[in-house]
Amino acid sequence: MKKRIAIIGAGISGISLARMLEDKADVTVLEQHAKIGGLIGCDRVEDVLYHRVGGHVFNSKNQDVLDWFWSFFNKEDEFIQANRLAKVYLNNVFIDYPIEDHVFQLNNADAENIIDDLINIKSVTSNNFEDFLINTFGITLYEIYFKPYNKKIWNVDLKEVPLNWLEGKLPMPRPKDIIYNNVLRKQDKSMVHSVFYYPKYGGSQFIIDRLSEGIKIISNYKITKISTDKFTVKIDDFDPFDKVVFTGDIRTLNNLLQDKLILDQYESELDNLKSNGTTNVLCYCDKTDLSWLYIPEDKFRAHRIIYTGGFSETNNGPSGRSTCTVEFSNFVSIEDIHEEIRKLPGNMEILAHNYEPNSYVIQGENTRDLINKIKDSLRKHSIFILGRFAEWEYNNMDKCIESSINLINQLI
Ligand SMILES: Cc1cc2nc3c(=O)[nH]c(=O)nc-3n(C[C@H](O)[C@H](O)[C@H](O)COP(=O)(O)OP(=O)(O)OC[C@H]3O[C@@H](n4cnc5c(N)ncnc54)[C@H](O)[C@@H]3O)c2cc1C
Repeated sequence: MKKRIAIIGAGISGISLARMLEDKADVTVLEQHAKIGGLIGCDRVEDVLYHRVGGHVFNSKNQDVLDWFWSFFNKEDEFIQANRLAKVYLNNVFIDYPIEDHVFQLNNADAENIIDDLINIKSVTSNNFEDFLINTFGITLYEIYFKPYNKKIWNVDLKEVPLNWLEGKLPMPRPKDIIYNNVLRKQDKSMVHSVFYYPKYGGSQFIIDRLSEGIKIISNYKITKISTDKFTVKIDDFDPFDKVVFTGDIRTLNNLLQDKLILDQYESELDNLKSNGTTNVLCYCDKTDLSWLYIPEDKFRAHRIIYTGGFSETNNGPSGRSTCTVEFSNFVSIEDIHEEIRKLPGNMEILAHNYEPNSYVIQGENTRDLINKIKDSLRKHSIFILGRFAEWEYNNMDKCIESSINLINQLI
């Protein structure tokens, strides 16, 4: 008899896992919304593709993830491969990305100060994100770019952001690398998404729809309780499952569990986990070769524009104009959206907007320990957690797939 496994949540984590378990278990996916996809879900508005959150592109440095992913798609026929062309919009000038390698494009005073900072940087241990940024890039670049940009995204004191959280996610250049790159005009190609893949039709919804083909999904179903006995896990009135995988927000799991002894001890720590939402605005805009534009200055509330209309021509509607998504941290009212969009370059025209309360997790010094303890407690009751908001990790799609691969052995 195949094991009965329930997966709560039909985002990329839940659907990838379901796909991997397909031949090995009897899997049911339960999704609270009518549409699957979670954060990577897309709609169409006036026949324009709308990433309700961000503007998802795919790549990975993990060969197992790439092999698994590409076994479901025809890379050449169904995806475009693009080189990242990002810029930073600063003092009404478009500076190439990453800004530290293009200091020569800044005004002379800033450029001189940055070079002075870089040659005086001492090799010291950084204790937090703010320290890291100042010790790596110098105080001038920190003040004009890294501080305002990261403050917009994280909305916390950057001193409170621990460094272990950022390992592998940030460039760690030495000062001399930055100076060489500026003198020799070299581009750093090792960055995440410096080359990326994007579906020719349907954006990231195409990815989730293809991966979910043939999987048993009950959508529009928000679970209300999970109870456990010695051998099985019960969800509402469904027949008992051998194992349950939760991919939703870990802060909500305790409320669902009927056995309060499992997570009650962690309740206050779970309540203290902070996250940020994003407001994502779909706009018509002028055609551009750019893929991303970063907007650090405080005079703009938006922090990023993703030119999704440039990723695939099929994303744009019949109007002949190109399209993009403008991203703001947290909730922005419709009046403020209109005012802010007017300030941005590219002759924007608003098509739709969406507020997603769960976009960015914020990790503290002890978050990983907490999540590991929770994983241990849950595992004893045949419950597992997976995904960005369940594991409280700043994971991209590929990391969600990697976590799914790593979870298989515990389930089968
Ligand atoms: C602004 C932004 C831009 C991004 N850009 C990229 C990018 O370009 N490339 C990339 O690879 N990654 C990107 N990411 C990251 C990517 O979105 C996430 O890694 C990924 O979507 C997380 O998937 P998930 O399945 O873990 O979680 P989610 O997508 O949140 O899925 C969880 C699912 O569980 C469901 N659920 C929750 N609770 C319940 C319940 N009680 N009952 C039933 N269902 C429930 C939810 O409705 C949801 O569908 C971006 C993220 C953001 C915020």
